[in-house]
Amino acid sequence: MPDKNRQILLRRRPKGWVTPDCFELVEAELPKPGPGEAVVRVHYLSVDPYMRGMMDDAKSYAAPAKLNEPMPGEGVGEVIAANDASLQPGQFVLGDFGWRTHGLARARDLIPIDPARAPVTAWLGPLGMIGATAWIGLMHIGQPRKGETVVVSAAAGAVGSLVGQLARDAGCRAVGIAGAAEKCGFVTGELGFDAAVDYKSDRFVDQLAAATPDGIDVYFENVGGAVFDAVLPRLNRFARVPVCGLISRYNTPEPRPIRDARPFLVNRIRYEGFICTDRMNLWPKAHEAFGRMIAEHRLVWRETVAQGIENAPAAFISMLKGGNTGKQLVKLVP
Ligand code: NDP
Repeated sequence: MPDKNRQILLRRRPKGWVTPDCFELVEAELPKPGPGEAVVRVHYLSVDPYMRGMMDDAKSYAAPAKLNEPMPGEGVGEVIAANDASLQPGQFVLGDFGWRTHGLARARDLIPIDPARAPVTAWLGPLGMIGATAWIGLMHIGQPRKGETVVVSAAAGAVGSLVGQLARDAGCRAVGIAGAAEKCGFVTGELGFDAAVDYKSDRFVDQLAAATPDGIDVYFENVGGAVFDAVLPRLNRFARVPVCGLISRYNTPEPRPIRDARPFLVNRIRYEGFICTDRMNLWPKAHEAFGRMIAEHRLVWRETVAQGIENAPAAFISMLKGGNTGKQLVKLVP
């Protein structure tokens, strides 16, 4: 077992956009596992938009990350030493290791991974928190019905790319919104959505109208801001808006004025925020649905993979700016 652990600390809280100097790579001692504990060599680290919120010292649904401690985050890796009968070296697990090359965790906090079922990175995608989020938001809150139009923003990203495929599976028209022509091509091509619209295009509003001729019944909100301004007038009566994320706001500290609520009343729109961890009871259902789609070779998920713990901050910043297609990961083993 190695005796050193490389980790990325949060050194500074950003004001607005995250910059590389918010982080520092340091080396620390790697402790031996105590009773009931295991040491895991992390193969893939997940960098996610929610981590931006945790960098602020502000009230949110998750507690702020602590200064001078490793950035929080999930990873998948291989047990290299275990002091618990339930784990064997060589076994793959999912856990909250933080931005570290090696994690020390209680065995009972680790989720076993079966690499025979899917590539291990699926547990940071459709078989993990990302899949639960997509399924809970769309199926539990959005309640799509056959023939309806479902629109999802950040459609080429980790959650969005799964939402559109679930919508198609439910017999809906799936329309994606993404920030580049190539991403829109990926959404309608590989992912099989019915249409995709580039929100950075000057003709976005007209193109969204053309892509949603019957209006919008479910809008899966990942971004907020100007994209929602374009979506709101197209929402049908009794439309549902599962509010999953507002990434366009994460790096802009100024609050945005609350909009006129009249369209919500006139069209009886249900606008409902949700956090995936509030609905842990639904995770097995979500993972069963994606597990089935994977087994039947009906699910596409893409990954953008950076190499090396030293590149985790750059990968995180790039993802916040749309540099990723599919799930942004950092590979920690050569
Ligand atoms: P993604 O893989 O979708 O990556 C983020 C994407 O956001 C980027 O690729 C970029 O795509 C898009 N984006 C960035 N800035 C803007 C902007 N100003 N306007 C529009 N789009 C923008 O990340 P995830 O799939 O992990 O997360 C998607 C959303 O879901 C986030 O808002 C996240 O916070 C939320 N989330 C919520 C959870 C919950 O429990 N409620 C759990 C997990 C995620 P593009 O190039 O298209 O702009």
